[in-house]
Amino acid sequence: MKNKSIIIYLCDYFDEKIINEVVYKIERTIHCPVTLKKFEIDVTNFYYPGRRQYDANKLLKVFSDLKNPCALKKIGLFKVDLFIPILTFIFGQAILNGDTGVISKFRLRNELYGLKRDDNLLAERLAKVFIHELGHMFGLIHCQNPGCVMNSSTYVEHIDQKDQEFCSKCRENLGHNKLSN
Ligand SMILES: [Zn+2]
Ligand SMILES: [Zn+2]
Repeated sequence: MKNKSIIIYLCDYFDEKIINEVVYKIERTIHCPVTLKKFEIDVTNFYYPGRRQYDANKLLKVFSDLKNPCALKKIGLFKVDLFIPILTFIFGQAILNGDTGVISKFRLRNELYGLKRDDNLLAERLAKVFIHELGHMFGLIHCQNPGCVMNSSTYVEHIDQKDQEFCSKCRENLGHNKLSN
């Protein structure tokens, strides 16, 4: 695990200040270095006209096929609205115990809900989604504790209600899983 980092592949242009804040928050909770990398991808190939959304499973495969010896975990960050067949939309998706995930900021923006843009809130929401998906990638399943970052979130309000930290039980499981890797 030495010298390896969690790599966030920026698949669009993202505000540097917001992203740096997200990186800071992830590193503070996960205790692994995070590296940012620009990534060129034509998302039109992943568009589903019937849903006017983008296929998260197919995008996930792009990153699971991507070889990078420096990557402990690989996460693609998108601006477009992502879906998986069984759900209306997703904030993020990751492979349990895997090294790959995808996340979208589309549904995390206040503007989508007719509210005023709030960059601090957006950074907070993004960090929670990243930490949640990384939790899955480090082997954690959903947690019933409503304040825990591993609590499942259907709506953006749920994300706002939970903490960006793991509860003590999840933190303990995370420790076991990370040590056994
Ligand atoms: Zn989840
Ligand atoms: Zn928990």
